[in-house]
Amino acid sequence: MKNIRDLYLEEIENDLLEIGEKKYRAKQIFAWLFRGVDSFDEMTDLSKELIIKLKEIYYIKNLEIANFVESKDGTIKYLMRLNDGNCIESVKMKYKYGNCACVSNQVGCKMGCNFCASAKIGFVRSLTPGEIVSQILEIEKQSGEKISNVVFMGIGEPLDNYDNVLKAINLINNPKGLNIGARHISISTCGLVPKIKQLADENELQCNLCISLHSSRDEVRTSMMPINKKYSIKEVIDACKYYIEKTNRRITFEYALVDGVNDSYEDAMHLAKLLKGMLCHVNLIPINKIKDGIYEKSSTDKILAFRDALNSKGIVATVRRELGSDISAACGQLVRQTKEE
Ligand code: SF4
Repeated sequence: MKNIRDLYLEEIENDLLEIGEKKYRAKQIFAWLFRGVDSFDEMTDLSKELIIKLKEIYYIKNLEIANFVESKDGTIKYLMRLNDGNCIESVKMKYKYGNCACVSNQVGCKMGCNFCASAKIGFVRSLTPGEIVSQILEIEKQSGEKISNVVFMGIGEPLDNYDNVLKAINLINNPKGLNIGARHISISTCGLVPKIKQLADENELQCNLCISLHSSRDEVRTSMMPINKKYSIKEVIDACKYYIEKTNRRITFEYALVDGVNDSYEDAMHLAKLLKGMLCHVNLIPINKIKDGIYEKSSTDKILAFRDALNSKGIVATVRRELGSDISAACGQLVRQTKEE
């Protein structure tokens, strides 16, 4: 049986033709799927005969909300259980411009970043496009609110699940799907150089690219992110320059400030030199402390001084608002806690 949420409209059309049904029915089915229905029985404009046939080849529901916690600031963190029993996390955040969903794209992660709770879960498998899209549909259903922005910043490395993430983005962006503009969708990567270049060559894709940089010095970055042994900072920056050249789109560099590790004035100057002349923005993140984590958050004074130092060198830098800090909003923490319990 196929997960129908994994499919493009055209794929459903082809399946319908194969079972002797009219192609136009696919549009009706597709529209129902993005209204968040969980069963074919809810598709009231389809005949009983067609519903029976659909149930023979497809299933719809591929995950459910197992638990959720709400922060004082309105952020909601969800623990979602997939059909195979594995759990992932998704988060809904409220901003002035609308609601943003942070989605997972893998169960666990291979990348092993030192500051990340997801890395400590270990890698299990990649999510399918339908499992990614369903997180947004479940959030909309639970909260009763529309999602206007999507960030791939939950569990997993999106560029390590490239094809499924791209298909999910196309389904999210599709006017007949979730109809969320590509410019409202962001992918965050730890810096898989060949995949950044591949993404740059996907001409029509207008989504935002964020790079988890966290240090401008190889030895420090390697100590935080093992992937830096494979792709050095220079290689990542070169791939980013290629991306900017091909797409003319601004890149966001994420920089989690860790006390005494990467937050000095010299670090800011070194970073400014690295990024000089690039079409980019630096997002400074007060690091979320994780259980058994070795890193401490920089003080607010240091964070602001770091931002000002970058700005003084012409590098646009802002400090990310801390959302959901009272509910362990750092990705992977809820899954870890649930596993331990
Ligand atoms: S920060 Fe991202 S890439 Fe690194 S281990 Fe965590 S989920 Fe994976």
